[in-house]
Amino acid sequence: MFEPTLAGSLPKPAWLAETHKLWPQWKSAGDELRDAKADATLLWLKLQEDAGLAIVSDGEQSRQHFVHGFLEAVEGIDFEHKVKMGIRNNRYDAMVPQVVGELRLKGRVHQAEARLARAHTERKLKITLPGPMTIVDTVADRFYGDKAKMAMAFAGLLNQEAHALQADGVDVIQFDEPAFNVFMDEVTVWGIDALHRAIDGLTCTTAVHICYGYGIAANVDWKKTLGQEWRQYEKIFPALAASRIDQVSLECAGSQVPAELMALLAGKDVLVGVIDVASDRVETPEEVADTIGRALQFVARERLFPCTNCGMAPMDQSIARRKLEALAKGAQLARQRYGG
Ligand code: ZN
Repeated sequence: MFEPTLAGSLPKPAWLAETHKLWPQWKSAGDELRDAKADATLLWLKLQEDAGLAIVSDGEQSRQHFVHGFLEAVEGIDFEHKVKMGIRNNRYDAMVPQVVGELRLKGRVHQAEARLARAHTERKLKITLPGPMTIVDTVADRFYGDKAKMAMAFAGLLNQEAHALQADGVDVIQFDEPAFNVFMDEVTVWGIDALHRAIDGLTCTTAVHICYGYGIAANVDWKKTLGQEWRQYEKIFPALAASRIDQVSLECAGSQVPAELMALLAGKDVLVGVIDVASDRVETPEEVADTIGRALQFVARERLFPCTNCGMAPMDQSIARRKLEALAKGAQLARQRYGG
C-alpha cells in the first residue's frame, strides 16, 4: 500500500551536465558522455532505493530534455536549424527543432539506460516518454500541417519504443502530457486517441503524467494567473477515466488543485503529487502523510501511489535527494496512520 514513486526526472550531477537548467549542455561527448550517463543512472538508482522508493526510474539522466531526448532519435526532424517558438500556449519560448519530413525512428531511443537500470535493480522500473500532444507542442511543424495527424505519427513511434522497453523488462511506461492541462478541449478531440495509439498492445502498466510544469519561473508566474482553484483537471479527468490508461500522475502538494477532482478518476491508479517541485523547502514526512490523507477521501487506498508533483530535473541535487526521502518516509507514516 502507498508504494512511493516519482514523476520521472532527477537532477543531473555537475560532472554530467550543467545544473539547474531545463536544457543543460553535456559536459563531455562520445564514449565519455555515454559512460557518464550510465554512471549517473546507477547513482540515482542507488539513491532512490536508499530513500525507499518502491518504483524507481532512470532519472532521465541520458536525455538532455524530456521531449527533445526522444526527438533526437527520430528521422524527419531537423535539429540543425532550431527555431524559437512559444510553447504551452505561449507560456514560454523555447528553441525547438523542426519536423521537415515523414517521421521514422532511427533505432532504439532508451535501450541503454533501460537495460542498465533493469540489470541493477530488483524494484519495479518506470521509464518515461513524452506524450504525443506534448511533443507536438514542443516542435515546429513544417510538414504535416495538422496537429492531430502529426500527433498520431509520433504516437506510432512512441508505441514502437514502448514495446521495446517492455521487452527490456520495464514495468511501467509513463507518457508525460503537461500539454493536456493547456489544450483541454483537444484532449478529448484527439489527445486521448493519440495516447491510445501510443499504448496499443502493451501489457505492462501504462501511465500518463499531467502537471502544471517544472518549478521554473515561467510556470510559477503562470500559476499565479490561474486563480484560487485550478480546475483544468476537471475537464480532462472524465475522459481519462474512460480511457485504457492504467495510471494518472497528478499535481497536488502546494497547489490550488481541489482534491475532490481526484474522484473523477475512479477505476484508475492515482499517482498523487505529495512533493512540490516548485519549492526548495523540503516537506516533512508528516506533511506528506497529511497530503496522502486528503487524497484518501477521494482515491481508494489500494489505488493511491505517493509521487512527486513533476520531474525534478532543474532542482538542486541535494534537495531532490532529501525530498525523495521525505516522500518515502511520509508514505511509511501514512501506512501506519491509514493502513488499518
Ligand atoms: Zn510534470
